[in-house]
Amino acid sequence: SREIRLASRPEGEPEPSNFELAETDVRAPQRGELVVRNRYMSVDPYMRGRMKDVKSYTPPWQIGQQLDGAAIGEVIASKVDGFAEGDLVVHGLGWREVAVVKAQYAQKVTPPAGVPESAFIGVLGMPGLTAYVGLLDIAELRDGDIVFVSGAAGAVGSLAGQIAKLKGHTVIGSAGSPEKVEWLNELGFDAAFDYHDGEVRTLLREAAPDGIDVYFDNVGGDHFAAAIHAMKQNGRAALCGAISSYNTDEPAPFQLMQAIGKRLKLQGFIISDHGDRRQAFIDEVGPWVADGRVQFRETIVDGGVEAAPQAFIDLLRGANTGKMLVRF
Ligand code: NDP
Repeated sequence: SREIRLASRPEGEPEPSNFELAETDVRAPQRGELVVRNRYMSVDPYMRGRMKDVKSYTPPWQIGQQLDGAAIGEVIASKVDGFAEGDLVVHGLGWREVAVVKAQYAQKVTPPAGVPESAFIGVLGMPGLTAYVGLLDIAELRDGDIVFVSGAAGAVGSLAGQIAKLKGHTVIGSAGSPEKVEWLNELGFDAAFDYHDGEVRTLLREAAPDGIDVYFDNVGGDHFAAAIHAMKQNGRAALCGAISSYNTDEPAPFQLMQAIGKRLKLQGFIISDHGDRRQAFIDEVGPWVADGRVQFRETIVDGGVEAAPQAFIDLLRGANTGKMLVRF
């Protein structure tokens, strides 16, 4: 099986030379293990953090070691009761063609009619749950809230915005291209802007002249500062990500005094702490995805494991609309 290993740590943008393609023998499964042939793997922004040699909520990848991350694949051998050849499982050993997975880290999935299997590592997987928990639990969405979502054409942002719309809110989104803004308009966002068109603070004021109550932050930096500026009293922000700073070491501007004066609630969160919300998320959002009330896009890169490093580099550059995936 072929796999990707970390060759070196990037400074700034990752480059293909930071990754290495290697071949390895797949060992026989032991009791409690499955052998899975991956069909799709996810590339995610948090993986940029794992390329750095710093302690974080996920341990750094080690040089010379194979990478990991979400994937969905087909069981090709099973030493576990309840799992058979042909079952589809979501698990954490992406970045390789064939994985030997402990059954407790594999989740069997059966896609409902009309929902592709890839959705289980996208809109119905970790990114989807992140949107749900961030918006409802962390930002404590309440009736009447005006909601601003940055990174709104991405996997997390596009669902966060649509959930807020389905719950009857005014929703503003920002994204990085005219095509992405057009998609947000199609999704029913009340206003959307391309953050390249001017200062985020000005663009947000035009899009949300009455201010905002909730900010779902995927971007940090200027977006965060502009959102704090636009916040009404008692506003709430779910600090989900800060992708504008992932490839740099520059400190982000931070409007602390304004946050204090407006009695804001700013709360960071890490989705792996919120697994207890998964069932509620699937019960509520699953039907919306199946009947089309929630739309989702995927940017699928073909070419298998070999294509994954470039797909990841391109994700950080905004090449994706919706979830970025690699197909094997
Ligand atoms: P996306 O699908 O949103 O992909 C990343 C997007 O980020 C790109 O498409 C690009 O879109 C945008 N981007 C890149 N650079 C910049 C920049 N300098 N300024 C503004 N936007 C930029 O990824 P996800 O939906 O998977 O993740 C979105 C965010 O949520 C990330 O910050 C991620 O780290 C975070 N996250 C946090 C979790 C948690 O537990 N807290 C869990 C999952 C995700 P564009 O063209 O619009 O610039």
